Amino acid sequence: MSKHHFQTEVTQLLDLMIHSLYSNKEIFLRELISNSSDALDKLNYLTLTDDAYKKLSYTPKISIELDEKNKILTISDTGIGMNEEDLVENLGTIAKSGTKSFLQNLSGDNKKDSSLIGQFGVGFYSAFMVANKIEVLSKKAGEENAFLWTSEANGEYEITPSTKEAHGTSIKLYIKDEEEEFLRFYRVEEIIKKYSNHIPFPIFMDKEEKEWDDEGKEKSSSVKNVQINKASALWTLPKGQIKEDEYKDFYKQISHDSTDPILWSHTKAEGTMEYTTLFYIPSKPPFDLFRMDYKPGVKLYVKRVFITDDEKELLPTYLRFVRGIIDAQDLPLNVSREILQQNRILETIKKASVKKILNELKQLKEKDSEKYLEFYKNFGRVIKEGLYSDWDNKEALLDLVLFKSSKRDGLVSLKEYKEAMEKEQKSIYYITGENEAILRNSPLIEHFKAKNIEVLLLDEDVDTIVMPMVNEYDKTPIKPVNNSDIDEEIVEDKNKKEEDQKTYQEILVKMKEILKDEAKDVKISNRLSDSPSVLIYDKNDPDFQMQQMLKQMGQDNLPKVKPILEINPNHEIFKKLIEKNDLSYLQDISFLMMDQAKLQEGMKIDDISAFAKRLNKFIAKSL
Ligand code: ADP
Repeated sequence: MSKHHFQTEVTQLLDLMIHSLYSNKEIFLRELISNSSDALDKLNYLTLTDDAYKKLSYTPKISIELDEKNKILTISDTGIGMNEEDLVENLGTIAKSGTKSFLQNLSGDNKKDSSLIGQFGVGFYSAFMVANKIEVLSKKAGEENAFLWTSEANGEYEITPSTKEAHGTSIKLYIKDEEEEFLRFYRVEEIIKKYSNHIPFPIFMDKEEKEWDDEGKEKSSSVKNVQINKASALWTLPKGQIKEDEYKDFYKQISHDSTDPILWSHTKAEGTMEYTTLFYIPSKPPFDLFRMDYKPGVKLYVKRVFITDDEKELLPTYLRFVRGIIDAQDLPLNVSREILQQNRILETIKKASVKKILNELKQLKEKDSEKYLEFYKNFGRVIKEGLYSDWDNKEALLDLVLFKSSKRDGLVSLKEYKEAMEKEQKSIYYITGENEAILRNSPLIEHFKAKNIEVLLLDEDVDTIVMPMVNEYDKTPIKPVNNSDIDEEIVEDKNKKEEDQKTYQEILVKMKEILKDEAKDVKISNRLSDSPSVLIYDKNDPDFQMQQMLKQMGQDNLPKVKPILEINPNHEIFKKLIEKNDLSYLQDISFLMMDQAKLQEGMKIDDISAFAKRLNKFIAKSL
């Protein structure tokens, strides 16, 4: 016998499971059945592809026994089984990365936490919600020895060599007194039908059948071993035969999510290439949505045989929240990972699947904007990633993205923006920055506000990378407001501009000299109405947001990019400078113009005490 301690995270989790979670306890059975089903899938695959397993007798099946008298629920399968190492590895640790942060993120709200736990996939441990002791007896297929794993969830578990006739796993739950409902046939049957009707393997239970005589007395009673679930892979059934609830339950089974999906799409392709796909869009983001090591949500089957649930290439990364299955007819069963990743058939299925999913989302957007907004709140950021990785579907993606706007409270699509464009307006304009408040008040959009031109307010990290790559929407150019490129578009009065240019020539030249270390150029602005100055960027230079982003991505040796300072010729400050014909303060004014423009863009200023000194000098003077 060997004694082991659970990994700290497991103990923490078990503690939580036992002491704080009490809603929805029934899911423990779904989790155990799902593990059995996975174990059967794995062995099924080996018997079909690996000579060493071909001779093995393999009758895939799951059995559940209820012993009301001794309060024991046993679930057994004829799957791959576990040896001693597997037991330690699988039932003593949580292999998943992110466990710690996951545990820290639990809210203390039981309902929320239980469903999170499901998504996190700590399946097996959930059995401790209903049992105070668990025994796992397992024998790995193809091996001689069996092992018994026992734990009472008190920080440790034991493993002892044991015996077991056939390969597979048998898990005994010693049910807590207050959870006796899970020992009753009808209750357990109900749970199985609800969550596990469509796992592809049969689940058997003993059912007592009684016969009654005419007077209502029991005539005879017998026990029969009956199959409880349908055991048909749901996606193989014709669409017309599948009820809404069945689709939803199947989603819950494969996703471990306890909320209904927003939508699903079931497709059977026939003809040159045969395959079936069933995709779901969850209504809540999975916990690992923004982790590099996220778990992919699509399982691959070949002719109904489970191949893998760990292949990220089945869908593009920006659709990593999609759950579902792909079942291909024309692939060999023993495809290697390398082959999978560059397989032509899968590539074709992937392409068609992406189109299909994007189209479903588009329809949702058109038919039920409220639901779409809910979807967008959770997954909009991820969808935007597609704009720089999936050129083939750029148009479709542009139809899905939404933005904040200078003219509206809610979100706006590019289509809506375009429809509301001003007559003279040549482009779709946007501004990127750290937060909405800065953007709404930015001097950069003063001109646009004055002219009633809408500006998209992009305040997410991803916008900074993505938008510069999107040049146009439906033949209308998309342009940032802080780029020198749009000068021509927004100048209103060319003559006035030339005049201003002359009037301010001397000032501009001097300011440029004063600010030579900070600004690439100092120019007359077309964009300002209230503010005296603003920073813009040369059309080929990355703007401040983009520079920040590049730094975050680890590019430390960026050459210094100098912005262009624009001044407002109609502002009192500059008018007075000309009137008084006295440039003795120009040095201070230049730096103040530069610094305030920086602050308004959300940048830091280098020399704060110099800034304060200059400011105070002018305050004192004006008193
Ligand atoms: P998950 O199923 O999300 O991986 P679990 O905690 O439920 O997490 O299970 C941990 C691991 O234990 C599984 O990945 C599997 O390798 C193993 N396991 C659990 N139940 C069985 C079983 N009935 N047969 C074989 N292996 C199992």
